[in-house]
Amino acid sequence: GATSRGAAGATRTHCPYCSLQCGMTLVGQRRTTVEPWAEFPVNEGALCRKGWSATGLLGHRERLTTPMVRDRSTGEWSGVTWDEALDLVARRLREVQAGHGPDAVAVFGGGGLTNEKAYQLGKFARVALGTSQIDYNGRWCMSSAASASTRAFGVDRGLPFPLADVEQADVVVLVGSNLAETMPPAARHLDRARENGGKVVVIDPRRTATADRADVVLQPVPGTDLALALGVLHLLVAGGHVDEAYVAARTTGFEAVRESAAAWWPERVERVTGVAASELRALADLLADHERVMVLTARGAEQHAQGSDTVLAWIDVALALGMPGRQYAGYGCLTGQGNGQGGREHGQKADQLPGYRMIDDPAARAHVAAVWGVEPDSLPGRGRSAYELLDALGTPGGPRAMLVHGSNIVVSAPRATHVQERLEALDLLVVCDLVMSETAALADVVLPVTQWAEETGTMTNLEGRVILRQQARPAPEGVRSDLDVIAGLAARLGSPIDFSTDPEEVFAELGRASAGGKADYAGITYDRIRAEHGVFWPCPSPGHPGTPRLFADSFATSDGRARFHAVEHRGPAEVVDADYPVHLTTGRVLAQYQSGAQTRRIADLPDDGAFAEMHPLLAGRLGVADGMPVTVRTRRGEIRVPARVTTTIRPDTVFVPFHWLGVNRLVNDALDPASRMPEFKVCAARVEAA
Ligand code: SF4
Repeated sequence: GATSRGAAGATRTHCPYCSLQCGMTLVGQRRTTVEPWAEFPVNEGALCRKGWSATGLLGHRERLTTPMVRDRSTGEWSGVTWDEALDLVARRLREVQAGHGPDAVAVFGGGGLTNEKAYQLGKFARVALGTSQIDYNGRWCMSSAASASTRAFGVDRGLPFPLADVEQADVVVLVGSNLAETMPPAARHLDRARENGGKVVVIDPRRTATADRADVVLQPVPGTDLALALGVLHLLVAGGHVDEAYVAARTTGFEAVRESAAAWWPERVERVTGVAASELRALADLLADHERVMVLTARGAEQHAQGSDTVLAWIDVALALGMPGRQYAGYGCLTGQGNGQGGREHGQKADQLPGYRMIDDPAARAHVAAVWGVEPDSLPGRGRSAYELLDALGTPGGPRAMLVHGSNIVVSAPRATHVQERLEALDLLVVCDLVMSETAALADVVLPVTQWAEETGTMTNLEGRVILRQQARPAPEGVRSDLDVIAGLAARLGSPIDFSTDPEEVFAELGRASAGGKADYAGITYDRIRAEHGVFWPCPSPGHPGTPRLFADSFATSDGRARFHAVEHRGPAEVVDADYPVHLTTGRVLAQYQSGAQTRRIADLPDDGAFAEMHPLLAGRLGVADGMPVTVRTRRGEIRVPARVTTTIRPDTVFVPFHWLGVNRLVNDALDPASRMPEFKVCAARVEAA
């Protein structure tokens, strides 16, 4: 099952969507169908309905196959040749930079790009454009967990253990994860944990499909997960349940946490979170009574203006129990986007170079510059984070032109109406995409690019397992890879170095650039990935087996110890009041993925549009019945959607999925100070019958 091709014409590859990167077999070149790849260990042949229907994107009638240029005065689109398109883009980029300096051009990447594309994009920005202004949509995905893990453990790998370790845990605590709907094949591991006698705890303001598989369900007020963690810490300390030997031997900073948690007695936590003191005590007892506790966070805990502190508080819980580094236990983040993990390692972040190297570290600059064949001093410094970059577009001193690869910003950005205005203020917007997404429709130039089954490249899944997507069929005529776009533009911009368009060659260079860094890929090759069902980083040399489990003996900090962080609960940036009395939260539904640019176009996936999920008590107060239209309004705008009335949500909260243009127009753009994550998961709203 490990070979690249199974039966004749069958290709082993991976789903185009989420961070589980389920293995699948694609059969047939003209009509391509999905079959299971049972031996791939993460999903064992299972797929969710998004995966089963993913070939609907191949040969889709809305697929772009010609570069398109828009006339701003008439709004008319016309098709041009690739040479015309790339010449035009390069000329306009040069003009903008000649008039306003290198940072007047920005690059916006994506967490769905392959490792090779993410790597080339970062290099292209720093070397061919000489701009510091590059960041990507992963900033809005798991950046709070990335920031917290780096501070606590010295390295950020979403899961520092294979996902299947969940099956052997005694207690699995899911904070803000609805994996039964967002990545259904992952739920098998949770179910097996329960078959093995383990307990599952779900913490979420909504009682989701994941909560249906749990032993304990807590529904806190949105934005209070941090206070809940402090309450657990308080009880662990008060009950004498801290693993003092572990804390002494493997960590630093606990005394400050012991002090700060002292103020979070259960009744105070109950007032802030809405979780009963008795439930909190039961949770602390459950954790204290078991050998192997696993705490997993996802967007519900992370997408807050205090998201990184929230994750740090839950890491404190895991450390106080002595879990990180213990087998079948510890802390992990369930990353979201397909290449959410790899997308943050190879240099498309504003503050990082490949291999998780910080861009302002002289040694890191020297290493990467040597691999690239340029002078370290020629590399620009730190740029703006994703939202700050968009907020600056077209402003004095801000970028005036932008290239977008693999991101549908006007649907996925917070305060999206404002972001759309900033995009419209640009002198030049270039979007590379498969289809005319909402963001592509605003562009001056749209370049049609290849997608998953039409190209080869690696992704790194939520476990840090580097996997290989293999080309199963030729790309449609007229379509090119982002790697071709980057190389074509670099040559036209007079780049001092060449950019390869061969993914395997780019991967080998990426390995050299990452060598010696924390996410070390130097020993990984395409052949090894094919033979081994993926390879876990770090893998520093060809003979190295890869590293499925981190932290058994030491953490990746300078002294090998994990760091506790005494963090304070600040609450959401915007609180409910008389004008905006309900909490608005956002998230996903099973049949759609992220901005919906791909899944909304798949005929086999139900597309019912957005809705406002609310409790019958709230609906009753508003005089609204299930299915009736309501207006959801925040300080940033309003949308009209049908009500979906259900007892599974808190009565003070309304939930709207973000796969359709709409709810992100309402979302607050308050940012986490460390991760620069916007507060997608809570703001103050008013709901009325429409
Ligand atoms: Fe697997 Fe995620 Fe694809 Fe569903 S969307 S098949 S869970 S990779």
